[in-house]
Amino acid sequence: MTAQIKPDFDVIAVGAGFAGLYLLHRLRGLGFSAKVLESADDVGGTWYWNRYPGARCDIQSIDYSYSFDPELETEWQWSERYATQPEILRYLEHVAHKHDLRRDIQFSTRVEVAKWDADASLWHIRSEAGEEFSCRFYVMASGCLSQPKAPEIEGTDRFHGEVYYTSSWPHEGVDFSGKRVAVIGTGSSGIQSIPLIAEQAQALTVFQRTANYSIPAHNGPMPTEKLAQLEGDRALYREAARWSRAGVPIEPNEEGAMQVSAEERQRRYEAMWGAGELLGIAGAFSDLLVDPVSNETLCEFVRDKIRATVQDQATAELLCPRGHFIGTKRPCLDSNYYQTYNLPHVRLVDLREHPISSITEQGIDTSDETFEFDAIVYATGFDAMTGAIVAVDIVGRDDLSLADKWANGPQTYLGLMTVGFPNFFTITGPGSPSVLSNMTVSIEQHVEWIGDCLSYLSSNGLDVIEPTETAEAGWLQHVNDCADITLYPRADSWYMGANVPGKPRVFLPYVGGVDTYRGACDEVVSRDYLGFRLQGPGKQQCNDGVVRRIQPDVALVLEFIDSLALPPMESLSVDDARAFSIAMAAERPAGPEIGEIIDKVLPGPVGELCYRLYRPDTPGPHPIVAYFHGGGWVLGGADSDDPFCRDLCAQSDSIVVSINYRHAPEDKFPAAPNDGFAAVQWIADNAGMLGGIPGQLAVAGWSAGANIAAVVSQMARDGGGPGIVGQLLLNPVTDCDLTRQSYIDNADGFVLTTALMQWFWDHYADSADRVDPRASPLRASDLSNLPPALVVTSEFDPLCDEGIAYAEAMSNAGVSVRHISARGQIHTSLTAVGVVLSGAPVRKEMGAALLEFFGTAPPSEL
Ligand code: FAD
Ligand code: NAP
Repeated sequence: MTAQIKPDFDVIAVGAGFAGLYLLHRLRGLGFSAKVLESADDVGGTWYWNRYPGARCDIQSIDYSYSFDPELETEWQWSERYATQPEILRYLEHVAHKHDLRRDIQFSTRVEVAKWDADASLWHIRSEAGEEFSCRFYVMASGCLSQPKAPEIEGTDRFHGEVYYTSSWPHEGVDFSGKRVAVIGTGSSGIQSIPLIAEQAQALTVFQRTANYSIPAHNGPMPTEKLAQLEGDRALYREAARWSRAGVPIEPNEEGAMQVSAEERQRRYEAMWGAGELLGIAGAFSDLLVDPVSNETLCEFVRDKIRATVQDQATAELLCPRGHFIGTKRPCLDSNYYQTYNLPHVRLVDLREHPISSITEQGIDTSDETFEFDAIVYATGFDAMTGAIVAVDIVGRDDLSLADKWANGPQTYLGLMTVGFPNFFTITGPGSPSVLSNMTVSIEQHVEWIGDCLSYLSSNGLDVIEPTETAEAGWLQHVNDCADITLYPRADSWYMGANVPGKPRVFLPYVGGVDTYRGACDEVVSRDYLGFRLQGPGKQQCNDGVVRRIQPDVALVLEFIDSLALPPMESLSVDDARAFSIAMAAERPAGPEIGEIIDKVLPGPVGELCYRLYRPDTPGPHPIVAYFHGGGWVLGGADSDDPFCRDLCAQSDSIVVSINYRHAPEDKFPAAPNDGFAAVQWIADNAGMLGGIPGQLAVAGWSAGANIAAVVSQMARDGGGPGIVGQLLLNPVTDCDLTRQSYIDNADGFVLTTALMQWFWDHYADSADRVDPRASPLRASDLSNLPPALVVTSEFDPLCDEGIAYAEAMSNAGVSVRHISARGQIHTSLTAVGVVLSGAPVRKEMGAALLEFFGTAPPSEL
């Protein structure tokens, strides 16, 4: 129900930094009345407050600037690659002046309370001074790094000398000449200010709790090459930035760090060191933020640079970061930071070894020393991303307080809105790329999205918008899925809220990339504001749903496959399809190292069958897993499933024997299950010779191979052995009925298509044979007394429903069955070892299930 009471403003925004300024300009242009409330006495936000010596941007100024005003782009010339705080502030003042923004900004006004009025469908805002405003839409453009964090050090108010916070530096500047100065904190603010404070101070002592990775900025005049790139075609350059990973147009590197030689790695790292660009660090190789081994190579490179720069090796070692991967805390960009420690009057104190016990009247006491200072500088950081938002008492529907809702971590839809708080937007809020990107690009995208949204509402007679719970939960899941495949969650960073005692430990920004994120936001709009409930007098609309359900790395694989524009496999001849699948398999990472791999033959029912044996590198004998590869009974072989078999071997500490059964159409049904059964009998009889433990035999398979594993289990039950202790069925084919819902929902677009499955069946078995339980094990009249099973199905797999049906049918027949439904995975992704990292937890569970079949693992839910 919405009412038409006219508020003071269509929109009130909090904050007059990059975000608030552009929002005001944009909303005006769209015909909305808007007011910005700002606690400072002028514009600038970050660049108004952080006036400490050395404050600069760490994204090149060409990129760290607005793109919405083409005139501004040409009339403003940056003097340096990385502009100083005064220059960036002048730029924002210029923008405010040029677009006459100050007339709608009320300065020196701190917003304290914002309350949703459901009857009137508007927000009531109250300032610290008690002034009240109302608006239809309320936007927190309050900044991700604008709420300073308390230093949390005993005795901070005791000190009699001068006290400075980098986050609210005096406008008149500070002269440290002749003074004994302490700096606490070695994040970006500390690292930028320390060299300049050292230039003035009589003595400087730096108190470091965590050493940070920093690379030299090599600041200087605007780089001509980059300028030429921009000036060559500004629109193109800006558009490329909008669709880049981090908001700066840089070609992503596809190679992993360990895929090149040590010399090549060193060469690239040297180039990165020389280039002086933060985004160049993560971009040196594709896997630096996901692979610990790759990341460590860069960590060590930077440590070597520190050792080579800092003369005193004890100090150098203290400055070498340890305990977090490079990039997982925001790395710094510096000018002469490490060199500063070569100055005789600069000293580093390691707070890990000797923590601060108290600030005193004269200075600082650590656990083993008393220091006297004339000035203390706190560079101790911010309550990032959520701090400024929850500092306002924001109350939504049904008196829900935002601080309460977010007590265990922020929940948002797209980092833009949150359930329970209609018409309330955040700019670069938690769950958006925000601080992991060039913020100006992300700010512009949010401002434009919000502007377009308000225009849509207004032109459709709607005036209230709120996300749905489904959409919000889905987005949160996606944000976490993206983070979980990276190294970020392992660090105690402000990205994780770990710098503020008591703050919930959750990954705050969206790491999926600016491009992916923009795509999701655009898709939401194009699907009638998917996941939002929109209301107006007498009308409402809601297309509920989740915008990103596929695992992020699976989505990348699908994108890559799409980019190849391949013909459908079912349109190929069998030979071409086989050649293609061999070529694709050759491109994959090899899988983990294991003890031994042997190719041999075993006697099949009509001739020899090749098998490949994978032996763990632990002392034997081991249990044995008889494994059947996927490929629709037509494609595949030992090579096709090699990385997965290695992984299974390593995870289950078992011998894996991958059997190359005969393929259709040359050898149609029932050649494959007959081969499978014969092979399993032979393996059981020869377990000792293979290095296995007699009686410790499980079967496993993927897709058509899981079909064979399931059938062999039935044949062994009915044929008097051999004994099988468990069956691992990954995305199994269990039935020839291709009309189940998952064949319709996932018919196309997820690699294995319904049409391809039809093609496989047509090659494998004549129509009459397909209902035979040796082809469709789900159709067996008796499913009791089968070995315990782990059935794994993938959400976006045409075969999903028949796998579930088989798990249920076995369970109903009294078999011990565990079913894992792999969220966001496709038919081919769980076997993509080293490519689809989001599949790793499921692969681990498969290994654990095998161990449990063999009685070598602690019991779980099985
Ligand atoms: P801010 O600039 O933080 O502005 C928010 C404003 O909201 C502030 O002025 C604040 O006073 C006001 N406000 C907050 N709460 C209230 C309230 N309750 N009532 C009234 N007013 C309120 N990002 C990059 O991409 N590249 C960089 O190089 C870079 N360098 C940085 C350097 C420093 C020192 C810091 C701290 C951050 C840096 N950032 C950088 C991040 C930077 O914050 C953003 O790039 C950008 O400036 C944010 O703009 P904003 O308008 O969203 O927020
Ligand atoms: P920060 O990165 O959070 O660094 C704060 C520093 O203070 C850390 O070294 C922290 O140690 C230390 N610290 C905090 N509390 C402490 C305590 N009680 N005792 C001892 N040490 C304590 O904050 P920041 O340097 O202000 O930077 C925040 C972010 O703003 C940056 O990551 C960046 O995104 C942005 N920024 C950018 C630039 C730029 O170059 N353009 C400059 C400044 C800021 P621990 O690590 O152990 O917690």
